[in-house]
Amino acid sequence: MTRRATKIVATLGPASSDPAMLEQLIRAGVDVVRMNFSHGTAQDHIDRATLVRAAATRAGREVAIMADLQGPKIRVGKFADGKVMLEAGQKFVLDAARTELGDIDAVGLDYKTLPSEVKAGDVLLLNDGLIVITVDSVKGAAVFTTVKVGGVLSNNKGINKQGGGLTAPALTAKDMDDIKTAMSFQADYVAVSFPKNATDMEMARQLCNVAGADFNHKPGLIAKIERAEAIPKLEEILLASDGIMVARGDLAVEVGNAVVPALQKRMIKLAREHDRFVITATQMMESMIANPVPTRAEVSDVANAVLDGTDAVMLSAETAAGKYPLETVLEMAKICEAAEAAEELTLDADFSGRAFSRIDQAIALGALFTAHHLGAKAIVALTDSGSTPLWMSRYLIHVPIYALTSNLSTQRRMTLYRNVHALLMDTSAVRDTALTQAERHIKSLGVVQAGDVYAITCGEPMGAPGGTNMLKICRVH
Ligand code: PGA
Ligand code: MN
Repeated sequence: MTRRATKIVATLGPASSDPAMLEQLIRAGVDVVRMNFSHGTAQDHIDRATLVRAAATRAGREVAIMADLQGPKIRVGKFADGKVMLEAGQKFVLDAARTELGDIDAVGLDYKTLPSEVKAGDVLLLNDGLIVITVDSVKGAAVFTTVKVGGVLSNNKGINKQGGGLTAPALTAKDMDDIKTAMSFQADYVAVSFPKNATDMEMARQLCNVAGADFNHKPGLIAKIERAEAIPKLEEILLASDGIMVARGDLAVEVGNAVVPALQKRMIKLAREHDRFVITATQMMESMIANPVPTRAEVSDVANAVLDGTDAVMLSAETAAGKYPLETVLEMAKICEAAEAAEELTLDADFSGRAFSRIDQAIALGALFTAHHLGAKAIVALTDSGSTPLWMSRYLIHVPIYALTSNLSTQRRMTLYRNVHALLMDTSAVRDTALTQAERHIKSLGVVQAGDVYAITCGEPMGAPGGTNMLKICRVH
């Protein structure tokens, strides 16, 4: 059983959809499979989910499925030749009223409201920021611009406005349909693209809960932080979500590359302080799309995200469309483990000044403190909702947390929490029986052996959510 604390999210795509490859990726350490809803039909997604569940069963590990909604992609239209080569200094028109295909002078817009949302002087970034144009004037439906940084612009490339300010709602009609599809196969997480405030997340939550009700399922909600507007609203977005994604791809285009590393650190810290989880995403192992080894900079990037305290690191095209999906996951897992070993622990300082008003929270943190200072081999949490392991995992500690639950959807959800190893066990037995079973379980996995000390938490009565009220320190017989 792996000791790696940091979790790996891998995006499913052509390079990883073969059943044997997917099984290998899960065995190699993928904890969460991300399904990108920008590609494919509802039936494709349903088929992929079946594929993932089957591969996980063969690999003997549970994984969570994350349904990543497309969100409001703000895009140019199509070109007569599929693409044009824009030169610095030339004029170019984005025309919402244009019905014919684009050419070197002008192109239509999928996003019809753009002309009313930009003004002279605004900087627009096309194709992930590779092309930069400035707005000279807006006349009716036409935005007249000058190209500052040229490049190839092809069909349906995205548009971002530097500094943010485009009003597209976070949830499109397509997203609403996709939520229904995702709930039909009980996606464990739904990731919302481009939310700008808490209201966007609350709306997504409501849609998920309504669509999920038919399947008796409530997914965890992830806010992708990738808009300039979301930064000042970080706290309210966090509170309306279960976790966030540091979505460095779009975020860097909107706020500028240089400030993203500092924002990453701030987001990770704030998420943990609010008992939310956090995923660090995009271009982490980018060169491994084409090469069997990462660059030194990529190794450092992954390691630094681990040291920042991220719960998970994410792979996008590396596993969706790359040449070396398996090598990438293995390499990423190794980097995480090495970084974790070098982590400086500040548990005592983290605790000082914290006040607890809830019994279950006090038990969770009492278990951490005790296990840390006694040099315990493991912390075991019998849990129904998963909240005790979540609280425990908000602090960095070198004692692994084994979360035992009889609830399969809780088990899958917990696969994302740093340092939590989620296992299925019937927790409905009377207390003493359940405690004995738990010890037998972790002993059989080789987590502890005779003579080792571990801490275990549970609630009485057993099997009821939110009732953790007991901490026991045990020595293995
Ligand atoms: P995407 O989101 O890959 O869906 O665009 C992540 C990001 O923008 O970093
Ligand atoms: Mn994005």
